[in-house]
Amino acid sequence: MTNNHIGKVYLVGSGPGDPDLITVKAHRLISECDALVYDSLVPKEVLQIAKDRCDLTFVGKRRGHHSFPQAKINAVLLEKATRYECVVRLKGGDPFVFGRGGEEAAYLHIHKVPIEVVPGVTAGIAAPAYLGIPVTHRHAGSSVTFITGHELVDQRRPSVKWKSLAQASDSLVIYMGLHNLEHIVSSLLSGGMDSNIPAVVIQQATVVGQNFIKAPLHKLVEEVRQKNLSSPSIVVIGRIVDYQVTSCAPSPANVTMPIPF
Ligand code: SAH
Repeated sequence: MTNNHIGKVYLVGSGPGDPDLITVKAHRLISECDALVYDSLVPKEVLQIAKDRCDLTFVGKRRGHHSFPQAKINAVLLEKATRYECVVRLKGGDPFVFGRGGEEAAYLHIHKVPIEVVPGVTAGIAAPAYLGIPVTHRHAGSSVTFITGHELVDQRRPSVKWKSLAQASDSLVIYMGLHNLEHIVSSLLSGGMDSNIPAVVIQQATVVGQNFIKAPLHKLVEEVRQKNLSSPSIVVIGRIVDYQVTSCAPSPANVTMPIPF
């Protein structure tokens, strides 16, 4: 590439794990790109779609190690864009759902790098779907809220108003909530949420490690502890859980999720 030419960066969602859930557009870009910068939640089967001479760079979190600082990831993306025509920034699920895709897009935009976002199937929808739980159901209310449960760990985020959510949203879908589950559940209960409302925690949804526990809210923490569920997991709380139709649940894909946390 010429010195002042800058390649394009695609912010691509790779879906929740099952490679069959990758969009046609994501698949095409992964197979064509010159450089691919990827996260922890991308299974190796997805990386294998890339061509042999594709420049692969891991910028995720490895077990027991800190994640890459965002500034470093931004710098990597900028550097790849100066070297390659087509760069894919691949993120688990959807790149704009709790994935810092917005920060990367803004950074690249400021640095005059052409960018395009490719939405993906987010874990908060796929995880309940792989158990046959509809993320909305008109008999279970009219609202669903997607929340990060990571707030106590990441103090830079504005804190979640759990007590208000207990009243304001019919269903809750919580990402990164497992480590913080006790606090989340007790805040919801003290905010007036029905202690018998059904809840489910779904681990490694859509891939071989898929496992879940279902319990009324007041028993959730204890059951999760007993069954030893681990990250990555999605927590779903609300009447939608009662509308589960197990016969529509797909089988998880025969791929393993790198377990990063
Ligand atoms: N951008 C991603 C979310 C990134 S935050 C998306 O749209 O799905 C990472 C969190 O997503 C994990 O801690 C977990 O809560 C959730 N997650 C991602 N993949 C998952 C999976 N296969 N099963 C369960 N939870 C998952």
